[in-house]
Amino acid sequence: MSSSFKAPRGTFDALPEKQPARRLVEDTSRLLLERAGYARIETPIFEETSLFARGVGESTDIVSKQMFSFTDQGDRELTLRPEGTASVCRAYLEHGMQKWPQPAKLWYSGPFFRHERPQAGRYRQFQQIGAEAIGSDSPLVDAEMIALLADLISMLGITDARLRLGSLGSVDSRAAYLEELRGYLRANDSELSEEVRGRIDSNPLRAFDADHEGTAKVMAEAPTMLDRLDAADAEHFEVVKGVLDDLGVTYELDPSLVRGLDYYTRTVFEFTCDSLGAQSGVGGGGRYDGLIEQLGGRPTPAVGWAAGVERLVLAMPNQVPEPRAEIFVVADDENRKRALRLVVDLRRAGVSADLDLAERATKGQMKQADRVGAKSCVILDSDREPVVRDMESGEQVSVALSNLVERLSPDAS
Ligand code: AMP
Repeated sequence: MSSSFKAPRGTFDALPEKQPARRLVEDTSRLLLERAGYARIETPIFEETSLFARGVGESTDIVSKQMFSFTDQGDRELTLRPEGTASVCRAYLEHGMQKWPQPAKLWYSGPFFRHERPQAGRYRQFQQIGAEAIGSDSPLVDAEMIALLADLISMLGITDARLRLGSLGSVDSRAAYLEELRGYLRANDSELSEEVRGRIDSNPLRAFDADHEGTAKVMAEAPTMLDRLDAADAEHFEVVKGVLDDLGVTYELDPSLVRGLDYYTRTVFEFTCDSLGAQSGVGGGGRYDGLIEQLGGRPTPAVGWAAGVERLVLAMPNQVPEPRAEIFVVADDENRKRALRLVVDLRRAGVSADLDLAERATKGQMKQADRVGAKSCVILDSDREPVVRDMESGEQVSVALSNLVERLSPDAS
């Protein structure tokens, strides 16, 4: 009988069968990022609400519509983290990481929460892997970061990812461009969706994201930031592109690429997989040179990305096999305790081993050994010496009980 309780709307249970693929994404990320000198950081699942309001931006969808916020018993305004960068920057400042060799290179993995409309590939709790390099304005860091995400995607066997690349300019050049864009939007406001019209002042860039037909038509002709980069921004972008070319990372320039968070400056990028349908973004990020200052620190350039574990798993073409026990110990009634002892000894010797715990008859235990995919089984039978049976070939050898662990452990020749 099932209970009437269900996981909250937009959330899901990642059952054991989903774990091998999820673990592969996390293990591959850790290997790749730690090999590149990124150290893991864990930050709290909830933060002060104002951290995200100030960091991500009041007018963004994330802050204005999607945060799970609550007031705690001490009247503090808290929010389940909708993204990782603001928290990592808060930690950078709180722990004086400016004194570390710069850039501080950090990575994270964990759950994030957004009150979005659930659909395939879009959840209210999802897992992100992210990386941040804080304290360098070198375009080489932008390129390194993008190459890392490209490599992660290809190590997972995903071959249909496209990289879109753009630049949003620096804070100053963007301010001038945004004024120009506002003027253009106002001049065409009768064609725009109501939502875009309402955001001309607060967030005109989001007009590039709109699905609304009239808006899309207006935006096709709109001035783009890529055409308005100042000399320093343009030079920075040229170096990023040149290094990516050198590294063999292919990209498409996308002048309309604006990401849903306010803090980005200069380089922005996004990897998409068309096979995923509407929710095609597997990961993205960019430079956020103004964020640390926005949070109260000294001006500190930084760049980072985040990738969605569920989307990466959906995009992975290959099934990831479930781990299987190497040895399954089958025992008649007199040998059940001995079987447990053997299993524990095998595990202590580094062998994955399992046994029947449902009091099945030996025939049922053999079936169970098959079901769990064991490579071999050991049969403990009071009438004869223990037998080791290769489950694939059916080949059997007798081995004295006292020699079993040594015989089956990985160092056995
Ligand atoms: P963002 O922080 O919005 O740049 O998102 C980075 C990545 O996280 C996206 O490319 C997605 O892969 C993933 N992601 C963001 N929001 C969700 C969501 N609601 N459900 C599942 N994955 C998400």
